[in-house]
Parts: sequence; structure tokens; C-alpha cells
Amino acid sequence: MTGGSKGIGQGIAVRLAQAGHRVAATYRSGDVPQGVVGVQCDVTDPGQVEAAFAQVESAIGTVEVLVANAGITRDTLLMRMSDEDWDQVIATNLTGAFRVARRAARPMIRGRFGRIVFISSVVGQMGSAGQVNYAASKSGLVGMARSLARELGSRGVTANVVAPGFVETDMTAELGEDLVKKYAEQIPLGRLGSVDDIAGTVEFLASDAAGYITGAVIPVDGGLGMGH
Ligand code: NDP
Repeated sequence: MTGGSKGIGQGIAVRLAQAGHRVAATYRSGDVPQGVVGVQCDVTDPGQVEAAFAQVESAIGTVEVLVANAGITRDTLLMRMSDEDWDQVIATNLTGAFRVARRAARPMIRGRFGRIVFISSVVGQMGSAGQVNYAASKSGLVGMARSLARELGSRGVTANVVAPGFVETDMTAELGEDLVKKYAEQIPLGRLGSVDDIAGTVEFLASDAAGYITGAVIPVDGGLGMGH
């Protein structure tokens, strides 16, 4: 999985390891949780992605479950959004996910088994003022997953999307207490999500119980995105 050093990714790595998976997670800064194989990798660098897969394959074998979680925001209104703001977000969230999925797919096809999970966002479906780049990257993951579901379904490989709402992590810590309260009021379940809410859904998608689910977008957002 990508981005296992903190936040949602860290929670997913821990949860998958607890469920009995052998887990490898990428990090750029920081470290990965205990019991997880850490590999340093920036998903925007093709050479680092290739090297990370080679490292993982020699440490624990081919990747059967891929979770593309690494993501960033560079929020600002359209008129102020620079090419760099756009490019960085697309390069990390969308191209990075494409790159790891492409690299993981070949051994999955060969082994006639694979689970690919993309971590999108409720914003990918609803849109969000100030997040044109981020929302485009996150809805792009839906088109990508559904295309992969069609391409790889006959080979036993599923591709699904998890669309979290607002989750308490570093990414949302910047929002401030008032804004968080305002968002919580719009969420039918009345609270922000926890890392474990998301990790539990990923664990399910990686499990045998989810073997007949592909091309799905699973909202884990307390009801925030209903109807989208
Ligand atoms: P954090 O900022 O806490 O963590 C992001 C993770 O992505 C870190 O592990 C970071 O690694 C990694 N990462 C970022 N850029 C790169 C890169 N170029 N190459 C490799 N790894 C990278 O974010 P969250 O845990 O909140 O978010 C995780 C995912 O969930 C993201 O895709 C985000 O868009 C999505 N999401 C989050 C929501 C939220 O409310 N928090 C809501 C909806 C979706 P490092 O720190 O080592 O650089």
C-alpha cells in the first residue's frame, strides 16, 4: 500500500496486518507501524515506484492486495490555482495511483487473483469549492477503477474505490474547530470519521467476503455524500 506513515494509510496498514495480511507500506518521511515492511517511495517518481515493488517482492512476495492511498491537497480557488498546484495534486493522487496499479496488475493477472483499492474522497463526487485539482484527481480514480474492473475482471482481479468523508487526520487538522463543527452539522451521523472507519472498509474489500464486488464506489462518510 502507498502512504502508510500516518493518517488513514497508517490505520489501513495496522488493520490489514491485524487481519493476517503480510503488509508492506510506503513512506516518504516518518515511519510505518510495527509489523509492517516499510519502503521509502515517492509515487511521483517512476524509478522509486519500480524499486519499491522490487523491494516488497523480495521481502514478502508479489502484491495481491494493492491500496493506493497516498494523497495530497493544494487547496485554493480556481483563479489562484497555479499550474504547479494542479500538477502536483494530479501527479500524486491520480498518476501515482495509476503507476502503482499498472505495476501491481501484471503479477495479479499471472496469479489470477488481485484486489486493487483506491482511496478517493466524497469530494470526488460532490465537488468542493477551492479543491478543483483535488476533486478532479479523486473522481479520476473512479473512472480508473471502473475501467480496471472491466479490463481485469476475467482474470480474478477486482478494482474498487473507497470514498471517505471528513476523517480526523493531519489533512483535516488544518481546518480549525469552527469549520469542523460546521461540517459535522451536515453529516447525518453527526461526527467526523475515524481512521478505523476507513480501514475497516478496506479490510472488508481485501477479504474473501468481497470477492464478488468490483467497480464499486463505497462511501464511508457518515451519510455526507448521499445522493451523489
Ligand atoms: P495524510 O496527509 O495524513 O497522509 C497522506 C499520506 O500520503 C502520507 O503517508 C504521505 O506520506 C503520503 N504521500 C503523500 N504524497 C506522497 C507521494 N508523493 N509519494 C508517496 N506517498 C505520499 O492524509 P490522510 O491520511 O488524511 O489521507 C490519506 C488518503 O485519504 C489521501 O488520498 C486523501 O486524499 C484521502 N482522504 C482523506 C480524507 C480526510 O478527511 N482526511 C477524506 C477523504 C479522502 P509522507 O507523510 O511520508 O510524505
